Amino acid sequence: MIVTLRRGWSIEWAVVFVPHKSAVIEIDCYQVLRELSDYLEADLPPELRLQIERHLNKCNHCTAVYDGMRNIVRLLGDEKAIELPEGFSRRLHPRLVSAAR
Ligand SMILES: [Zn+2]
Repeated sequence: MIVTLRRGWSIEWAVVFVPHKSAVIEIDCYQVLRELSDYLEADLPPELRLQIERHLNKCNHCTAVYDGMRNIVRLLGDEKAIELPEGFSRRLHPRLVSAAR
């Protein structure tokens, strides 16, 4: 069920109708994508991580974005993947500059 009403109301709705113990308030794609980079960097409170995990489990769109982001982060985090031959960027740079003209 997707709650499209105002945020404050939807949170109240969840508090009133969802049994408190297992309550995981559903979040939408917009919220997931906004938090996704923090999620990748493990920089989120546990409740929010759980909400995002639940959403990713059932939303192909956000999962695709997440996979793409994770690949980029992995490449950037892996020094070998971005290590360039000596002089490579020095030779490449003028070419990029002239190509941009
Ligand atoms: Zn989504």
